[in-house]
This record gives sequence, structure tokens and C-alpha cells, in this order.
Amino acid sequence: MLKIIDKIKKENVFDDVEAEDKESLFKVLSQKIASTDSNVSADDIYNALIKREEEDTTGLGDFIAIPHGRVKGFGKSEVYVAILKKEVEYSARDNNPVKVVFSIIADDDDPKDYLISLSQLIFLIKQKEIVVKIKDVSNFSDLERILLEAKELEEKYETERQIKYLIELQRADTQIYAFELYESTQTNKHESVLEEYKKYRENLEKKINPDIFDFYEHVKEKYAGRALSKIDNYTCSACHIAIPKMTVNEVRRQNQIITCFNCGRILFTTE
Ligand SMILES: [Zn+2]
Repeated sequence: MLKIIDKIKKENVFDDVEAEDKESLFKVLSQKIASTDSNVSADDIYNALIKREEEDTTGLGDFIAIPHGRVKGFGKSEVYVAILKKEVEYSARDNNPVKVVFSIIADDDDPKDYLISLSQLIFLIKQKEIVVKIKDVSNFSDLERILLEAKELEEKYETERQIKYLIELQRADTQIYAFELYESTQTNKHESVLEEYKKYRENLEKKINPDIFDFYEHVKEKYAGRALSKIDNYTCSACHIAIPKMTVNEVRRQNQIITCFNCGRILFTTE
């Protein structure tokens, strides 16, 4: 999935933005957005931002604001960034002024990407050790470094979650396999437990990234059931080959799914 940093186009970044207050910031921002490749007027954008702002402040604290809105006829979903020359008073949640603005503008009828971008920005703001650097940002290349750090954290967090689901999935599959193997001796009680496992598996499937799920299924088929392998003492517990230290470290870092170079199973570690 694209992260915030990947969604920011060069032409959507505005350095050295000058504004006296929140209202003039929204004016300048709307004009800048409308002057990029946009089908709508600055007024339309301004009105959408103000309308959203009236519900609740988008100054989320830590010198960051995320004014956003949906504009009819916009035809896309974009993330804009404004780095302010001087901090602007914004009635933010923590009463700090704002230095960096992420603005999401999307079409009225395409809410999905818009919501994903919003949740990614909220993820960024929760990463306090990263966000603390935002107030010292003076241009986009400063901000870029921070966003790359956030991207790495987000990927790690996602992979961690995906691996957790895959382990659950394999556990369910093992149970289902055992039930089906002894089909002839099953009672009604077994049937209902089997159905529960199948339902549980379906729910897990919905949470797993479709590409990762397909890959799991593919490896599972190849190895009659076990697509995952735990690293035990620098060894793949399924095929017993020694795993290089570098690979073990990569698995620990959890930036992406790593497979055993020998058997191709998805590696995980609990160390
Ligand atoms: Zn292996």
C-alpha cells in the first residue's frame, strides 16, 4: 500500500508559505492547490476546507495541521504539503501553532483513498519520536526524511500484523486439516468445531493483504499445509537449513515478508 510519502507529488509541495493567520493560510493554500493541475476553483477548495474545519480543528498538535475536504468535480484524491515560513496560530488541540500542513483534497464520490490518507497522517502524528522533529522543518527535504522514517515504521507495523495473522491462519489450517483427515470418525460436535475454524479462517482472510494471502496459499499448496516456518537458532525449522545472520536480522526488522532461500516458506521469529 502506498504510504503518505509516496502520495506526495513534487508539484503538490509548497515551501515557504506565508500566512498571517489560519484564515489567510486557508486562502493561500486553496489558491496554490487550485493552481496545480486542478479542475476546481480556489473558492471551492476554500469552502470545503472551512466546512470541515467548522466541525472540529484539524490542528492535531505537534505543529501539524491536516485541513482536508471533499470537492465536487475534483476528480482525484491528492495530498498537498505546505511548509510555513512562520508558524501560524491555528487553535490546535495542544495550543501550539502550526508549521507543517498536510492537506487532503478529494472528489466527493471517491472517499476510499481519502480516508486511507487521513488514517496514515494520523498514524504519523502518533509516532511521537518522529513528530517531535516537525517543528524544526524548514523545507520539504527536511520533511521528507521524517516521512521516510514514518514509512519504515508503518511498514514494520503492518508486516508485524500480517505475520501475526498468518500465524493464526496456519493454526486454523492445521486444525481444519486434522479434522478433514479424520473425517470418517467425526461426530456432529466435530462438525460444528470445524465450521467455527472455517469461519475464523474467513475472517482472517479479510484482514490479510490479498497479495500476501495468495502467496501464503501458493506456498501452502506446495508444502502440503505449512507455509510458515519459525527460525530456531538461526535455522529454518521446516527445512533445517542454516539461515544467514543477515536474513535473521531482516526478519527481526519486519519491514517486509522474508522467505527461506532454500524452501521458500515465509519466515518468522519470536526471539
Ligand atoms: Zn526453509
